[in-house]
Amino acid sequence: QFPFGRRLPCDIYWHGVSFHDNDIFSGQVNKFPGMTEMVRKITLSRAVRTMQYLFPLEYNFYPRSWILPDESSFFEKEIRTMKDRDPSWKPTFIVKPDGGCQGDGIYLIKDPSDIRLTGGLQSRPAVVQEYICKPLLVDKLKFDIRLYVLLKSLEPLEIYIAKDGLSRFCTEPYQEPTLKNLHQVFMHLTNYSLNIHSGNFIHSDNANTGSKRTFSSILCRLSSKGVDVKKVWSDIISLVIKTIIALTPELKVYYQSDIPAGKPGPTCFQILGFDILLMKNLKPMLLEVNANPSMRIEHEQELSPGVFENVPSPVDEEVKVAVIRDTLRLVDPQKQKKKDIHFQIESYKSKVIIRYNCFLCYRSQTLEHVSDTKEELLDAGPPDRLEHDANKNTEAGLPSLCLKQVFPKYAKQFNYLRVVDRVAALFIRFLGVKGTTKLGPTGFRTFIRNCKLSNSNFSMASVDILYIDITRRWNSMGIDHKESGMCWQAFVEAFFCLAQKKYKSLPLHEQVASLIDFCEYHLAVLDEKRLVCGRG
Ligand code: ADP
Repeated sequence: QFPFGRRLPCDIYWHGVSFHDNDIFSGQVNKFPGMTEMVRKITLSRAVRTMQYLFPLEYNFYPRSWILPDESSFFEKEIRTMKDRDPSWKPTFIVKPDGGCQGDGIYLIKDPSDIRLTGGLQSRPAVVQEYICKPLLVDKLKFDIRLYVLLKSLEPLEIYIAKDGLSRFCTEPYQEPTLKNLHQVFMHLTNYSLNIHSGNFIHSDNANTGSKRTFSSILCRLSSKGVDVKKVWSDIISLVIKTIIALTPELKVYYQSDIPAGKPGPTCFQILGFDILLMKNLKPMLLEVNANPSMRIEHEQELSPGVFENVPSPVDEEVKVAVIRDTLRLVDPQKQKKKDIHFQIESYKSKVIIRYNCFLCYRSQTLEHVSDTKEELLDAGPPDRLEHDANKNTEAGLPSLCLKQVFPKYAKQFNYLRVVDRVAALFIRFLGVKGTTKLGPTGFRTFIRNCKLSNSNFSMASVDILYIDITRRWNSMGIDHKESGMCWQAFVEAFFCLAQKKYKSLPLHEQVASLIDFCEYHLAVLDEKRLVCGRG
């Protein structure tokens, strides 16, 4: 901590809230620009929905959702039609305010007309979602899973998942929702912050019992009952990778606006908290993603009514300490520096200077004292031995990594889903100026012209109308009025619209992929021409 400010650059900046907590120009920051916005309930639902349009089967791990108030009438109409078609269908919905957390403002309804308009949806937009009525129960209780995921890099995409997570339990036995029990939060909502206030909450130092347990303890139990837990894990890994693939295009738009390509700037990584619900049939469903998951390793204990004390929580400690420790090991700038050791050995032959950064140094037997300014002199051995020793020193005594790489490790299985990333690359190319996330009318026209998308059937006047129509509609949804122009989601809609126009007979994902190929081809030809002209 540098309470009075620090002028010297650091290797790693650990921000509490977002990328913008401080102005950073180098090193690594533990937050991506735009991540908080991206994982808000509405933005996440939109990003997943885009992928559901393209790959409905692959993205069926997210409950059907509608955005309020924009889609209120559409929601009502759709449910009415479905109920008419199947009168035995008795759905339940969960309404979640956008930007809410810890179960704040969440309620269940049986019918679209039960949405509470008091309090003003306009002032607090929300997502309404199909309620998963048949969750997997343990000890007759509903529970969810909090998994920690490290997004180590956006370009190239690198994702790690923690081997263990937390299971957070409800404190009232579960019953399928009825009009009578809809309001019983301790039965339906698994939030720790709510259930802690139920008289039934059990603090336990044992990872296998109590209202908060390790996920591995649940898997052990399931495995003893004959459940194929490997399959459960691989479904969870697939859910995490697909969710991040849905988030990356817009994240890249935010990223370039704060850290333009080719300019010096920091790199980012981020620990995300994935909330997942296992259904009775063991299918994992995504509930939400947290950009600032709680890393507390204490819990509150009520000593007497209204008097609380913080006491250590071994279950939280077991899972969370490992996540932070391994994140630091993975982003360790010393790893890069170690590569330089050979060079130093060559230069100095008998002595090697290793600078340690106080934040990342692990105490070792060889090096007694380390600080961020001190230089330690080591008697050099042969290069191999020395580098080996340096590795041993930093990793000595540390447990094996709890964070496991899943991407690019499983990239081959998932790369076909990354089409929207290529649309984002086109959008970013035409955004032009640093600091913008919206495309102006000229940028859109240039995109159409450079990609050779206008013709006798689609004049530049029609292009302008398309731009105005879509932009106006998206801007009237009250997302972000700070900038004018076409936002990312509006561009996606316009792009899908153009793809449908041009490749009518294909399925949507093929239409989009074909249009991307077409655009990329014409831009490559243009770049080539410019290069030749430049040389000339
Ligand atoms: P918050 O950010 O306020 O915690 P969540 O989306 O995580 O909001 O929802 C809170 C809780 O509600 C979840 O932990 C889960 O127990 C329950 N929940 C949320 N969505 C659903 C759903 N679609 N079906 C069943 N339960 C849900």
